Amino acid sequence: MGVAENLSHIRQKIEQACQNSNRKPDEITIIGVTKYVTIERAREAIEAGITNLGENRLEGFLEKHEYIQDSASWHFIGTLQSRKVKEVIGKVDAIHSLDRESLAKEINKRTAKPVDCFIQVNVSGEQTKHGISLEDTLPFIRELEVYSNIRIVGLMTMAPHIDDQEQLRNIFRQLASLREDIQAERIAYAPCEYLSMGMSNDYQIAVEEGATHIRIGSDLVGS
Ligand SMILES: *Cc1c(COP(=O)(O)O)cnc(C)c1O
Repeated sequence: MGVAENLSHIRQKIEQACQNSNRKPDEITIIGVTKYVTIERAREAIEAGITNLGENRLEGFLEKHEYIQDSASWHFIGTLQSRKVKEVIGKVDAIHSLDRESLAKEINKRTAKPVDCFIQVNVSGEQTKHGISLEDTLPFIRELEVYSNIRIVGLMTMAPHIDDQEQLRNIFRQLASLREDIQAERIAYAPCEYLSMGMSNDYQIAVEEGATHIRIGSDLVGS
């Protein structure tokens, strides 16, 4: 199916989720995840009205960015190796996968101006998932004070690929609750306004639980 058609279907579901939770659709940014598809398909997404794109691997990101440039805002959503940081700085608008101090240090060193970062939190505790545990997130944020070019704009999580709606909801609630704890600390470099949560499998639940950024690949552009 065409991206425009998929997008209109996704927007309807977002609208429904917003109605269920007293939210407004314009509070939610759809990040089109183009990691499985061609540059042409990514362009089709932009023509359909997508203004934010996400890539999880450096090669895919650089390739698409070269063609699309600033026709979209760019989100780096995958694991980022410290030695690759210099290749994304200046090209990405946000990094969703900050999960260790060595990475913060490298970003801070390579950039001339503050970089918007989401901390990746491993809420479910699955061993295979990257990210910091819920308990370690606030202490980690405090350690970042020395890196003046790191701005913690939000939290990101990947829920496990399961069908159990209540379990998914519970994961998103825990991330939303952690955001409140962080905001209560009023840390200047960590406004932590955003929640990057929800993928094709679970974005409606994520929106109901407060997602501000949903990362959609297969349902939008295909896989
Ligand atoms: C691939 C990917 C997505 C999108 O996944 P879909 O299930 O295809 O929507 C979202 N977030 C991250 C971090 C990803 O790697």
